[in-house]
Amino acid sequence: MGRGFYVGETVHPDLKTLIELQQVDRNISELTSKIDSSPLEIQTLQAQLHEFTRALDERKSRLSANQKERRDLEGDLQAIRAKISKHKDQLYEVKTNEQYRAMLKEIEGEEENIRKGEDRILEKMVEAEQIDKLIREASGRLDSEKARVQSEVSRLEALRKESEQTRAQLQARREELTKALSEETLRLYEKLRKARNGMALAEVRDGLCTGCHVRLRPQAYNDVRSSELLLTCETCSRILYYIPQLEGAAGDELAADQRAAFQN
Ligand SMILES: [Zn+2]
Repeated sequence: MGRGFYVGETVHPDLKTLIELQQVDRNISELTSKIDSSPLEIQTLQAQLHEFTRALDERKSRLSANQKERRDLEGDLQAIRAKISKHKDQLYEVKTNEQYRAMLKEIEGEEENIRKGEDRILEKMVEAEQIDKLIREASGRLDSEKARVQSEVSRLEALRKESEQTRAQLQARREELTKALSEETLRLYEKLRKARNGMALAEVRDGLCTGCHVRLRPQAYNDVRSSELLLTCETCSRILYYIPQLEGAAGDELAADQRAAFQN
């Protein structure tokens, strides 16, 4: 058996305070991780909205690039058509068959370029329709997306404020509890809390330490149940406490009540 302070009472005066202190400390640490993770959650939401807007802007610039390409292609076609009509006029002016054939070949090449250009414009028009559809869909969703992020951010901010208030109350309660403890007990609690990941106390249930799941020796188990000493587990060093249990289903309920009463 580890440390023990005999105080001649049925319950060690520090034990109930310690049990509440551990609960308060666990709640404080839970709230602290919630509070600390809140800025990142808000950032993530805002990044989602930013990404949504960015994707929409990207589609809009793809659409205007598409429109510019179409205008350029149409300009090219116009120039080629002008050339063809000029070359067709020149057909009447050529002097030799050779020149005539060369001119015809040129016109054929230009007409081929016209067909290619028209195909390209068609492709661009199909692409523009697809982009336009995506833009209209995203624009329609933008307002609701903004509203969703805004309300989620407000909810997280309110939650954070609430958590901070609760934590401040718990910290005040912690002050009271630590003042009520003897210096020696508080030192032991803080040391174990650090070494045992926030769990300085462990309940003994069915003869086992719930901190390390090792069975207590029968004498130690008796000592813990008598609650007259502040005892620590021989295996994990946690401060042990025992809450009387009753048998059966009704007993479970009663036991739960008792536990609650003991822990509150
Ligand atoms: Zn243990």
